[in-house]
Amino acid sequence: MRVFEAVPEIQTLGVGINLLPHSVSELWRLDLREPLDATAIRTGALRYHATDGKTIWSEPRGIDAGYPCPQYSIHRGELQQILLNTVLRELGSDAVVTGRRFTHLSQTDKSVSAHFREEGSGGALEAVDGDCLIGADGIMSTVRSGFYPDEGNPVYAGQILWRGVTEAEPFADGRTMVMIGNNALKAVVYPIAARPNGRQLINWIAERAIDKALPQNKGDWNKPGDKADFLEYFTNWHFDWLDMPKLFAGSEGCWEFPMVDRDPVARWSFDRVTLIGDAAHAMRPNGSNGASQAILDAVALADALHDETRIEAALKRYETARLAATAALTLSNRQTGPEVVLQMVHERCPDGFDDIYDHFTEAELTEIADSYKQLAGFTTQQVAAAMRQPDE
Ligand SMILES: Cc1cc2nc3c(=O)[nH]c(=O)nc-3n(C[C@H](O)[C@H](O)[C@H](O)COP(=O)(O)OP(=O)(O)OC[C@H]3O[C@@H](n4cnc5c(N)ncnc54)[C@H](O)[C@@H]3O)c2cc1C
Repeated sequence: MRVFEAVPEIQTLGVGINLLPHSVSELWRLDLREPLDATAIRTGALRYHATDGKTIWSEPRGIDAGYPCPQYSIHRGELQQILLNTVLRELGSDAVVTGRRFTHLSQTDKSVSAHFREEGSGGALEAVDGDCLIGADGIMSTVRSGFYPDEGNPVYAGQILWRGVTEAEPFADGRTMVMIGNNALKAVVYPIAARPNGRQLINWIAERAIDKALPQNKGDWNKPGDKADFLEYFTNWHFDWLDMPKLFAGSEGCWEFPMVDRDPVARWSFDRVTLIGDAAHAMRPNGSNGASQAILDAVALADALHDETRIEAALKRYETARLAATAALTLSNRQTGPEVVLQMVHERCPDGFDDIYDHFTEAELTEIADSYKQLAGFTTQQVAAAMRQPDE
């Protein structure tokens, strides 16, 4: 197996990302517990807050919630490096080829050919033949556009996200993820690494509704942002447990990304070719699920290729296992997934609240949290049942 990557050099890009227990159990099976623990934070709680900082809902996460393995909050670049090291160790040093931008494919009933251009010069390169081609080329997937040429741009939700990382003193217990606000103005904050000086790298997202056409940046994760575009909206967000303006001010810069996804499609597998991860099902980041779903795809695909003798049958089997589940999640995330509770509080308590249980029953809040876990496949029961031993 070989991975062809467009960028000439793999760098530790991105900011924070979450790995939920159902994907962590698979990474542990690959012996990645030690490197993950060496860099990530084992997230112990998730809290939702109103814009005045009052707590709406708090729930334990990972081991603290009774899962057999943790939820990790980690720097995306560090996660990518751990996965890259594993691929190079297991598959050989020539398993990842950089600087090759996939352009198109052709296939027969015996093989598939991938065509590339050299990144930078744009020169055509020799085609590569194989038994199977897996399109893992993200939200702007060229493999996908070959099968869906009329699909066009990602679907814009009307919100812009600014993402950054600040080194700061830990907040709460140093293992808590918080979501604050509502659909018009929101912040998401969680620590992703400990520093030897006792401080932490704290990942933050500032989100603002900007309801106009899809911005020029259709899905480039590396576009630098301008803090002036959001800071003024958060000036009052000084909570006794976290000072948001100070946190925003502490980062060197930030990145701007539109809230986008893709409509679910009816097929990912076309004979010897299939799609995986964001190429298959780019979803809005509500619910912190994108990376975990890509890992679950990879496991299902590997299992299908192991069990079936015909490539075409394996790719169909993988699609059957994963397409409907991820389509349901994509649609749920359009309703903001479990974060819907923030908007419900905003609408039901426009003047704030003294006690959240004057406005919601505990059963209602529990149901919002639990139904999303069920849909995304990470209730404690689902993870315990799926957790396999290393030799399985
Ligand atoms: C640079 C970058 C930074 C990100 N930062 C964050 C973040 O901070 N937080 C977060 O939650 N999510 C982030 N994401 C998204 C997150 O990693 C994905 O949503 C998720 O992990 C699914 O991963 P994926 O492998 O399917 O897609 P991606 O992670 O998007 O990876 C797709 C890969 O395909 C390569 N590629 C694209 N087109 C071609 C082509 N034609 N030929 C060859 N290679 C190609 C890209 O260079 C990229 O390496 C980022 C993605 C990228 C690319």
